[in-house]
Amino acid sequence: MSRCYEDLSGPEIATNISPSSILLLPVGAVEQHGPHLPLSVDHVIAHETATALVDECGDRLDVWQLPTISISKSNEHAWSPGTLYLSAETLMAMLRDIGRSISATGAERLVLLNGHGGNTTHLETALRELRLEFGLKTFLMHPMIPPAHGGHSAEHEMGMGIHGGLDETSVFMHLRPNEVHLDKAGRRVPEILDQNDHVKFGGSVSFGWLSNDFNPDGYIGDPTGATAEHGRQLFEQSITTLSKAMEEIRTFDFGR
Ligand SMILES: [Zn+2]
Repeated sequence: MSRCYEDLSGPEIATNISPSSILLLPVGAVEQHGPHLPLSVDHVIAHETATALVDECGDRLDVWQLPTISISKSNEHAWSPGTLYLSAETLMAMLRDIGRSISATGAERLVLLNGHGGNTTHLETALRELRLEFGLKTFLMHPMIPPAHGGHSAEHEMGMGIHGGLDETSVFMHLRPNEVHLDKAGRRVPEILDQNDHVKFGGSVSFGWLSNDFNPDGYIGDPTGATAEHGRQLFEQSITTLSKAMEEIRTFDFGR
C-alpha cells in the first residue's frame, strides 16, 4: 500500500492511521534561488527527501507522507520576479488548520520536514502551538540544517552557504540534473560578515536580512564547485540521519 496519505481512501485512513502513526509534512518554498536554479529548489528537496525517507523507514516505523506544502514564508525574496510567499500569519494559520485536521485522524505525532530556512523560526513556534491546542507530539527536522541556524557550510564559503550555495545546488543537481545552470553562477559570499564575532549567520546575535541585501543576484554562497556526486552523498547521508531520528521520534516520550 502507498504511504502517501492522499493516495488512501477515507475508510483506509480510518483503519490505517492509529495513535502510533507518524505523519510527515514536507514544507518547501517557491522562491528565487539565483540565476542558476529554478524557483522549485526547496519544494523539490523537501518533497524528495520525504519520499526517500518514507521509502526507507515508512513500513518499519508507521510513517505516512502528507502532501508537500509548496508555498511558504519566503518574503526575504519578495523583491524577485517569481517568488510566491505567504505572510507569517497565513503560514501559522495554515499549520494550525492542518494540525486540527490531523488530530482528527487519531495520529498523535506530526513531523515537519522543512526545506526552507526562512520558515524555521515559525515552524518551531508552530510545534508548541499544535502541542498546546491539539495535544499533538510535534517535531521539526531539516534535510540539511540551514547554516544560519548552526548548520554546516563549506570552508571556502566561510560558513555562509545560506541560499543557492554549494551544498544546496549540489543536492538539487543530484535530484534534477538538467535544471541547474552552473554557467550562470559565481561566488556570492558576503565576506564582510566574517569580520564579526557575534553578528553573523549562526552567531550569537541574529539580524534581519533580505536576500538582495548582500548582492543583487539574491543567492548567498559559492555554488561554482557544485556536483551531482557531492549532492548524492549529502542526500543519502541526510536520509540515514533522518531515518535514525525518526526511530527516536517513534518512541519519544516526555517521561512523566
Ligand atoms: Zn533553498
